[in-house]
Amino acid sequence: MQQSPLDLLIKFFGYRSFRPGQREIIDAVISGRDVVVLMPTGGGKSVCYQIPALHMEGCAIVVSPLIALMEDQATALIANGVPAAAIHSGRSDADNLRAIEAAIAGRIKLIYISPERLVADIDTWLTRVKINLFAIDEAHCISQWGHDFRPVYTQLSFIKQKYPSTPIMALTATADKLTRDDIIRQLNLQSPLRWIGSFDRPNLSLDVQPGSTKKSRVATVQRLIRQYPNDSGIVYTLSRAAAEEFNEALLRLGFRSCVYHAGLSAAERSEAQRAFTNGDVQAVCATIAFGMGIDKSNIRWVVHNNLPGNIESYYQEIGRAGRDGLPARTILFYSMQDLIMRRHFLEESGQPGIANEKLDWMQRYAESQICRRRVLLSYFGESMEHDCGNCDVCLNPPSRFDGTILVQKAASAVLRTGSQVGIFLLNDILRGSARAEIIRKGFDKIKTYGVGRDLSTNEWNAYIAQMIQLGLLEIAFDDANHLRVTDYGMRVVRGEATVELAYYVARAPKSARGKAKEQIKISTDPTEQLLEQLKAVRKSIAAADNIPAYMVFSDASLLDMAKRRPATMEEFMLVNGVGERKGVRFGKKFITAIRKFEGLTATMPQGTTYKETLILHNAGVPLGEMAQIKGISTETVLGHIARLIDEDMITNFASYIARKDYETIIGAFKAQGDAAWEKLKEDYSTGLLRVARSIYHYHQRKENG
Ligand code: ADP
Ligand code: ZN
Repeated sequence: MQQSPLDLLIKFFGYRSFRPGQREIIDAVISGRDVVVLMPTGGGKSVCYQIPALHMEGCAIVVSPLIALMEDQATALIANGVPAAAIHSGRSDADNLRAIEAAIAGRIKLIYISPERLVADIDTWLTRVKINLFAIDEAHCISQWGHDFRPVYTQLSFIKQKYPSTPIMALTATADKLTRDDIIRQLNLQSPLRWIGSFDRPNLSLDVQPGSTKKSRVATVQRLIRQYPNDSGIVYTLSRAAAEEFNEALLRLGFRSCVYHAGLSAAERSEAQRAFTNGDVQAVCATIAFGMGIDKSNIRWVVHNNLPGNIESYYQEIGRAGRDGLPARTILFYSMQDLIMRRHFLEESGQPGIANEKLDWMQRYAESQICRRRVLLSYFGESMEHDCGNCDVCLNPPSRFDGTILVQKAASAVLRTGSQVGIFLLNDILRGSARAEIIRKGFDKIKTYGVGRDLSTNEWNAYIAQMIQLGLLEIAFDDANHLRVTDYGMRVVRGEATVELAYYVARAPKSARGKAKEQIKISTDPTEQLLEQLKAVRKSIAAADNIPAYMVFSDASLLDMAKRRPATMEEFMLVNGVGERKGVRFGKKFITAIRKFEGLTATMPQGTTYKETLILHNAGVPLGEMAQIKGISTETVLGHIARLIDEDMITNFASYIARKDYETIIGAFKAQGDAAWEKLKEDYSTGLLRVARSIYHYHQRKENG
């Protein structure tokens, strides 16, 4: 019996519905089509290949460059009852071999593998595995246009040659259009579905604080920790020294904090990672090396002590916060020195081209006078036509004016040159410059030449930057950085939309902006009180099972639990993020805590409990384990099973009684009627006899139609 994608989502992951895009992507893969998935970190990419892997016969191969992440994903899947394995150089040969054998035997649904290993193994044991899908995670690594090129990825083109009819799914959180095209070309994808998910992560607040001193930076982080004392966050720094310094400052203030950078030994690094994942520290002060392999969904804040080199990296780093969808805060400390240093690095690198353009965008973001989220989204090619209300610019807006006419002037100039000018040339045209290039190209003849003489070059530069940030103009990186007018820009040109621009102000160091209200609060809200208790339960389970807390349940699941307060197993199964496996495994402890909180008896009521047995049955839990989980005897469980068979709720009962026993029991019943009962009791338990009788009645009901 094949289960539908939605059934699988509910059963294994405990989610009641798909997120935007997941359904379309899954359907495409199941029908055999290649897919490119572009979704932000936390968007829910994993489900897109995990569900097809479960739905289709065979096993999916997931290529991932990050060993820690592979390991984590495989562990998380196993916790959800999905047979998965990771194969890479970080595991022992014996472990890898065991996984390979299981895969060949068809006992594994997802194999996470490093690209190096895939390249090496494609002609050996992999030929003996029934592969239903190749998922290429972090697919931007294949492209030199991306910001994280890895040469080994370029060898993956052989997949399509060897497996022409197996779908390939390329997934990434960071790829501009050039990189996307490159992914498709290099993997040789066949008219793939391109799914470009929204990059909007409305739960992340965006805040840029220019020119802060060291002391005020530490104070800002201090406020964040106080706001989320039981959760954690990351401070990213550029240098190891700065990470150490920040860490010491936090330790001096009495917070639990640690460092993570490339100067530590491997053991120290994995200890820091462990402490962070398990929630033992409130902050980790790290160079960019940290966080790649971390799948922790309840990171509540991310602070950048230095300006990142490009928007992709920045967005990926802040995207590590709030993956559970609950509010999370991000702060970027911006200084001119950082910018100058970055430019300097690029000059020295000898190949400043693309990297410089990417840094320009980062600067535009940091200096933006308009909603920062609109800037971010326009970078990823999304035009958002309203302000977000959750960034520092929206919360402290600079004064604005109706800029419609300026946009019309600039956009029509772009159109009249046939989109053959970049920012500087456009500026010159608008200001009526008589530069030789302008005359030579005939731009002095176009109607908009000189229409912006009233403004200075600096003003125009600022306004053109805003137009790009707002998604009215875009830069064609594949066409000599010429400007193009977007659809949104065209609507303004045609007078169908108006635009507000922020007044240009000559840049002086800004004073610290108004800060959001932050206090330490002791909660009196019952939901929050219960939530804290549920977190404690989660922590003790995680410690006992030796898995990170978020792998038990995410914060979002706990919050839903605190709101619903399930008092029975059936209610518990409805909590968001509770699949069958974890429901069965962890449910009782949470329900007990909730029942106590509600002033109910700690054990679950009788009468409904046989339905809980059904949940365990459906999850494939063996009889002995059912009794253990429920804290009742196997006899009682068998009584439940009999009743469930009577009610036609269980029809696959082979695991409860051996065929031979069944035939003996029913034979005696048929021959002697109820008189057989006493005699049979000597050899069989009452529970087993009741199950046999129920099965017999079941068959009779079926025969009689
Ligand atoms: P990505 O790989 O895109 O960064 P993940 O696959 O890790 O994102 O998903 C982010 C979070 O969203 C995870 O906690 C995941 O379990 C959750 N999630 C995924 N799909 C759904 C869904 N349909 N409903 C609710 N939560 C979901
Ligand atoms: Zn905003």
